[in-house]
Amino acid sequence: MQIYKGIILTGGIGYDSNIYLIDNEVLVDTGTGIFFNEIKEELENLKIDLKEIHTIVNTHCHFDHSGGDKSFRDLCKAEIAIHEEDKEALETGEGTLAELFGKKQKAVTVDRVLKEGDKIKTKNFNFVVVYTPGHTKGSICLYEKNKKILISGDTIFADSIGRTDFPTGSFDSLIKSIKKLSKLNIMYLLPGHGIPKVGGVDFLIKQMIARLERNR
Ligand SMILES: [Zn+2]
Repeated sequence: MQIYKGIILTGGIGYDSNIYLIDNEVLVDTGTGIFFNEIKEELENLKIDLKEIHTIVNTHCHFDHSGGDKSFRDLCKAEIAIHEEDKEALETGEGTLAELFGKKQKAVTVDRVLKEGDKIKTKNFNFVVVYTPGHTKGSICLYEKNKKILISGDTIFADSIGRTDFPTGSFDSLIKSIKKLSKLNIMYLLPGHGIPKVGGVDFLIKQMIARLERNR
């Protein structure tokens, strides 16, 4: 389903994360991989040539976001990118939580190590990496300033915030990261799970911060 001109939302089946395809060039997260064939078919039905995907960006290392990396990479020959702090987890499979899903992580080599401010470019989009640790130590968001789009991974959702009780999670870091997001001008929130939100995102984030400060 196209959720913004040039951005397709797929995935989200079962425990799968949302999967965003930007300009048919960049895939953000790949789900668990369990539904790879269904997702591939869905995209092919939209007349998308998957071979044009040149980069797979993982918002963080967890299995429900990265389990499909290997299948997509084998199909598209795309580069795999993740923040430097989550690179090791993705490459070793340790800390991706695949075991919680009763699965084993298919190890992949990371081709591109990301850090704050790095650019993820496509024909029509200029996304920038915003480092937002808290859910994991290597969690990132992707921000498109001109179009006011934030792809938020598991840092924030349309109705809640990311969990911090998994390995390398940190509640204090998450609060700091959400405060960082509050400084951005966001119209379109595209989260790692659940439905996207259009409008009212600034208010939503302010509410989250107020609640977190109270519960601290
Ligand atoms: Zn996660």
